[in-house]
Amino acid sequence: MDCRSNCGACCTAPSIQTPFYGMPQGKPAGMRCVHLDSAERCKLFGDDRRPPFCAALQPGTEMCGDSREYAMKYLVTLDELTR
Ligand code: SF4
Ligand code: SF4
Repeated sequence: MDCRSNCGACCTAPSIQTPFYGMPQGKPAGMRCVHLDSAERCKLFGDDRRPPFCAALQPGTEMCGDSREYAMKYLVTLDELTR
């Protein structure tokens, strides 16, 4: 599936444990990434400074579902289970 516009759940719900450009402490779970623009798109897409974690998260029906709310719930649960 293609990434849904105006979602940004996978750039908000999960924690990113490793430091990266713009977020030297990493990203806590539930915090918007500083690189999300107002349309919930990644401003670092295609940039080498984008964390490998992000490239590994590919859109899919299991993660993304049919709404931002579904994806947020799924990703919050996954983050808790893998912490
Ligand atoms: S959760 Fe899925 S649809 Fe939402 S921004 Fe991430 S990849 Fe795109
Ligand atoms: S760097 Fe881009 S893809 Fe990664 S969490 Fe931030 S906005 Fe999302």
